[in-house]
Parts: sequence; structure tokens; C-alpha cells
Amino acid sequence: MAPESGVKHAYLLDYGLMEAEWGWFLPDAASVSQRDKPRKWVQFPMLGALIEHDDGYVMIDSGPNPDAAKVWPKESFEAFPVIKFSEENRADTQLARLGLKPEDIRAIIFTHLHLDHAGQAYMFRDSAFLVAHRRELQHALVQIWEGKTGAYVPVDLEPLRGARWVLIDEERLELLPGIELIRTGGHTPGHMVVKVTAPSGDVWYFMGDFFHMPEEFQAESKGWLLYNGDEFESFARKMRLWATSRRVHMVITHDPTNWQRYPRIPQPLF
Ligand SMILES: [Zn+2]
Repeated sequence: MAPESGVKHAYLLDYGLMEAEWGWFLPDAASVSQRDKPRKWVQFPMLGALIEHDDGYVMIDSGPNPDAAKVWPKESFEAFPVIKFSEENRADTQLARLGLKPEDIRAIIFTHLHLDHAGQAYMFRDSAFLVAHRRELQHALVQIWEGKTGAYVPVDLEPLRGARWVLIDEERLELLPGIELIRTGGHTPGHMVVKVTAPSGDVWYFMGDFFHMPEEFQAESKGWLLYNGDEFESFARKMRLWATSRRVHMVITHDPTNWQRYPRIPQPLF
């Protein structure tokens, strides 16, 4: 018999739209006969999730800083511009659709700490546990400390000094009954996928940015956002096996078709 899950519902949070060059997601090099091949850009959603659990509300990822154009380093915003973000895309506005306030959130799980996932954590820093893999926080802080501009931005992490961090050391950990964290690496050193067991017994994998796009899953390949190829290949292949089950679902965070397929909060995903 399957272990009991305390999960009741899940909802998806709409954190607006971003744009980026396609080569970040899938290798897109030109051959010699394509020397003048134009570069391709893609628009895609940023989203998070809210899990309603017997033990409280748990969020997955917090979206980008609402003032990204002003507070991100110029290079970061130029590479990954936020092209749509309004009042309705704020994490507190999204939660209000279900009648919730930031203080009602017990914990936030960060799949990783990139700028489109950790940017509104400051709203929760005094009330929620902040759950990230230890390797992820270490990597993010080292990158910032070395002055590297990229997908970790100081404005996200600075307000989180002294917050109630829960740093995960394990490769797999059941955080609460029915909510399991799996360190996949691949995209970042401490990247985690969140496996959530619905009351029906169906399993939902919240993929973070392990796959940004469904094409990466299909091709088992990743573009410039690949950090560790061995880790990527290892977990991608397992996911290919698991996803053959009709009871297994994957939420691929930046899939441009997400809002055609899934409802927004307050309508439940399940
Ligand atoms: Zn992302």
C-alpha cells in the first residue's frame, strides 16, 4: 500500500512572462550552410505552485522580483527580460485569489535560486521556512561573492540573511507526507524537483528548470543553461521512464503552452 499523502490540492501561480534566446534551452548551432541563420527568441511563462497540505500551505518557487528591470544587473535583464509582470503577477496577489496572505504560507521550496524563482521570497522571510538544497545556496552565494553576473542576483538573496532556512543535505527527502524533494542537479548544482502525490494517488513532478521546455525532455538535451551533463542525462532518462505511466504528470515551469493546459489559481490543478 502506498504511504499516506497529506496533500489535498495543488494550484499554479502565474508570475508573468519572460523572453530569452532559444539556444539557452536547446542546442541550436548553425551548420556551415546556415551561417546566416537568424537567432530565435521565445516567450514563456514564469510560474510557481501552491500545495494545500494537512500540515499547512507549501509554495514552490516565488517568481521574479516585481521591479526586475530596475533591480537586476543590466546584463541579467538583457539576457532574460521580463516582458509581462503586473500587480496580478505578484505572489501576494496570486495567493489572495485563494483568500490567503503571505503569512499563511508555512514553507517555500526553491527548486533553485535563479532570478525567476527566488525573487519574491522577501515577502515570506519572516513567516515561512525557506527550503533549498544546501549546495544551491552555497553555489548562489559563491557566484554572487565572486561578482559574477548571471541568473543569481544579489537583490534576491540579500533580504534572506538570517531567515528560517531549511537547508537540504539529502539527495532525496520526504519534506512532508506526499511532498518529496529530489536533488537532480543538471541545471544548477543544488537543483531539486518536487514530487507531489495527489489524493488520487497520481504523482505530479514539479520540474523546476530541470527541463525548461518540453523539447528538452523529448530530446534529452539542454542548451546553454546546462550545468552538469552527467546529472542531466541521468535524471532525464529516469523521467522518461516514469513519464510513461499515465498516472505520472510533469509540470514544466517554462513550457509556453502551460496556460493553455492548466488552470490558474484559484482553480486547482488537482
Ligand atoms: Zn526558471
